[in-house]
Amino acid sequence: MKDKELFKLIKKEKKRQTEGLELIASENYVSKGVLKAMGSVLTNKYAEGLPGKRYYGGCQIVDQVEQLAIDRAKALFNAEWVNVQPHSGAQANAAVMLAVLNPGDTILGFDLAHGGHLTHGSPVNFSGKLYRSTFYGVEQETGRIDFDKIEAIAKKEQPKLMIAGASSYSRDWDYKKMRAIADEVGALLMADISHPAGLIAKGILNDPLPHCHIVTTTTHKTLRGPRGGMIMMGQDFENPWGIKTPKGDIRMMSALLDSAVFPGTQGGPLEHVIAGKAVAFGEALEDSFMEYTLQVMKNSKLLGEELVKRGFDIISGGTDNHCLLINLNSKDITGKEAERVLGLADITVNKNMVPFDTRSPFVTSGIRIGTPAITTRGITEKEIPLIAELIDNAINHKNNESELANIKKQVNHLMEDLPLFDY
Ligand code: PLP
Repeated sequence: MKDKELFKLIKKEKKRQTEGLELIASENYVSKGVLKAMGSVLTNKYAEGLPGKRYYGGCQIVDQVEQLAIDRAKALFNAEWVNVQPHSGAQANAAVMLAVLNPGDTILGFDLAHGGHLTHGSPVNFSGKLYRSTFYGVEQETGRIDFDKIEAIAKKEQPKLMIAGASSYSRDWDYKKMRAIADEVGALLMADISHPAGLIAKGILNDPLPHCHIVTTTTHKTLRGPRGGMIMMGQDFENPWGIKTPKGDIRMMSALLDSAVFPGTQGGPLEHVIAGKAVAFGEALEDSFMEYTLQVMKNSKLLGEELVKRGFDIISGGTDNHCLLINLNSKDITGKEAERVLGLADITVNKNMVPFDTRSPFVTSGIRIGTPAITTRGITEKEIPLIAELIDNAINHKNNESELANIKKQVNHLMEDLPLFDY
């Protein structure tokens, strides 16, 4: 490679990813096939439009690539309609809002400070600047969403769009209940399944597609694909405006969503990334992905239990999915400091606000951890107690550099025995 400066950095990052314990809940390691597709000549191609309806010549091959991604996504999620073009989860959400809302309309989402995502109405995001955002949250005593309470908020706020889904919520969602509330107040219901998408695809968690009008997701978290987004509609989608067309209601809404992605919010689709999505969806359709997702859940459940044994306070007491949100007040350390200390031991996590946090988002009282990446590395229940022990030790020795260096050695040793990269 000619660009030594840059490729040296990539080599360093590969070493970091190989040697460390990756516990960021939104990250994963893609397969060689996904990586190869992303680094392919498909990156050279412009393809504005959709398969068979492009604004550029020479799209006969990328049409097939994109169609493969669409067909596999439909099979994976039992979806009626899919758009695989959003460059990211945020782009997918922006496109949906552009399609179904007018500026000033009310949206009702999960509070960012309780585990929601920026694009669900945060005042610093387009969703909170363009629309009137209102929120539901978790109960202080249980750390869980009380779905009955959403009803009262929805009745009061009269949202046009309700959003289910989160960035750091370890419990499952009652999409059926949320749809009943949405119907009651005349709102559309969107689920953003960016985090648990892989687990939902394999039927391990509740399926939003039969209940939500629209479902968005990222493709790079539990789904283990390239960084990107996707929008879907399920089998029983009903036209929210009751508009009847000769082609059927679904085509009406899908056309709106397609045009909100392009030309509404994006230019040319990234066909090399879409190819990576096709590879990942193909992998997720295999039986081995079922084993993977079950292991992700077993690992996170056990990690929660092992951390509780060591005096950690897990929000809601445990997890139904791939992640855990931990309140560190019982350990006398902030989220910011824990992220730094664990980082010194090559354990990567992110600081995270906990519900009713008294600290700022830059400091926080918590951390979020997840098991998708370590499970890809081959970690099972066998190694989880040791991982809990290493986390606890690092936090207990936050000011002891030599002990942190010792923990780092143990982490590197553990990961050495779990080689991943064949790329
Ligand atoms: N939605 C949810 C629930 C997320 O957790 C995230 C990312 O963490 C996104 C959307 C945004 O995805 P991206 O970073 O690809 O824009």
